Amino acid sequence: GLGPSSGLAGFSRIFGIETEYGVSLTGSEQPVEAGEVAMAMFTPVLARSRSTNTYLPNGARLYLDVGSHPEYATAEAADPLDALAQDLAGEAIMRRLALEAQGGLQERYGDQARIHVYKNNVDSAGHSFGCHENYLVRRFVPLPTIEAQLLPFLISRQILTGAGRMTGQGLVVTQRAKFLDEAISSATTRSRPMVNTRDEPHADPDEFRRLHVIIGDSNRSQFAAFMKTATTHLVLCVIEEAARLGVPSGLEACALADPMAANRALSGDLTCTTARFRLADGRGQTSAVELQERYLAVAGDFVSTHEEAMAASLPSSDCQTILKEWSKSLEAIRSGHMSDLTNRLDWLAKDRLMAGIKSRHPAISPTKLKALDLDYHDLANGSIYHSMVRHGVMVTLLDRDTVDQCVDHPPANTRAALRGAFVNKAQELAASFSCDWTHLQVSSPRKREVLLLDPFDSRPNPDYLKLMQALGEEGPAAHQAL
Ligand code: ATP
Ligand code: MG
Ligand code: MG
Repeated sequence: GLGPSSGLAGFSRIFGIETEYGVSLTGSEQPVEAGEVAMAMFTPVLARSRSTNTYLPNGARLYLDVGSHPEYATAEAADPLDALAQDLAGEAIMRRLALEAQGGLQERYGDQARIHVYKNNVDSAGHSFGCHENYLVRRFVPLPTIEAQLLPFLISRQILTGAGRMTGQGLVVTQRAKFLDEAISSATTRSRPMVNTRDEPHADPDEFRRLHVIIGDSNRSQFAAFMKTATTHLVLCVIEEAARLGVPSGLEACALADPMAANRALSGDLTCTTARFRLADGRGQTSAVELQERYLAVAGDFVSTHEEAMAASLPSSDCQTILKEWSKSLEAIRSGHMSDLTNRLDWLAKDRLMAGIKSRHPAISPTKLKALDLDYHDLANGSIYHSMVRHGVMVTLLDRDTVDQCVDHPPANTRAALRGAFVNKAQELAASFSCDWTHLQVSSPRKREVLLLDPFDSRPNPDYLKLMQALGEEGPAAHQAL
């Protein structure tokens, strides 16, 4: 089994969150396409970067593909709490882009025009868009192990991380369940898998893979967003160490016979215990809360037998706190005390909100309830979530100042620090540059490039220093050359 290991296993991890947003305009007499709203938001981005696909001084990627869903992909974070802070900075950036664009759209469409930016996963036309979690995982973990041992966790964790969605038939736990149609696959466009295996590690490919988790709702709740990546980290540590040592992880029995069916059943079960899922080993059935309890127990044992290494794996968070919160949440669900969680889980906050409104307005229409659901996710002109936080009805983990800091500053302990400083300087000098997760490049007058393959390394190497110097010398000239 998994006893304490002596070797330098190293459980440190890179976390990155990609969030796609839905946009719309209301208050205009004529209908306005979402694409036009998104384009208006990205006009200043386009002016500054000559592209709607760009990297920011905080190391993040901000982009608008074809279509109308702006996306913000956080810089590499070494801790779930830092990833949360970077994702909330993304919210702030989207809000600012929307409120700046709103004035222009009001000139065109009247004073009542309002831009809405939804951090959710289904638009009013019923199209789904994503929130992807990225985890650096050691390559020796075989993909079938991920499917057998991680997928049941990713499905069942939704009782904590589901964002809830109002349908004509009432609330369901998750936004995405209805839209995912495959367990594991390398495509994200043709089909919608729960875990994408497309092999772009953005790191040394011999050592690492980037696990690309598609099954997951966007969260407004900071608690839910944090627990989503934090608990996943703990489970990944168990799976990695068992794979490294070639020993059982204790999670083998969690494999599900039909993950898709489980995912759908879970979403419709507001008790989290009634829906039963068949286990792959034919030994019966389980429920979401039972599965989560199994993962919690195995992760808890693992943390206590690998105390030092696990503590070292998270620079900003505490494993014991994560386990405690996880346990408290499951206990509340297990015992039917859902009301203990309405201040920290999105779907339960929404459930309480809807119940309150229905008791005050028994005749309220499903359409109106759906509009309130959307308002909860609107970070530009929505009022519900904001007011819940202001009245202390929703707990937060990070204050405004911390998030505002992250709008301009990357995590200091990953290569994002190098990218951020590079982008910052290049923008200041109006230099012609480009970058991606692993490359930084000055394009003119002479092409110079630096490769940053190690996402954990935030120290400037000699090539990087030369590039930064070249930027200083060639920056303004580069700009004129264009
Ligand atoms: P798509 O939008 O088509 O899904 P994608 O998932 O390949 O594209 P991006 O939108 O560019 O990629 O986002 C990549 C995410 O992966 C970012 O949040 C980034 O911080 C994170 N990331 C970068 N390098 C690593 C790494 N080595 N391991 C884990 N995550 C990483
Ligand atoms: Mg992306
Ligand atoms: Mg992605």
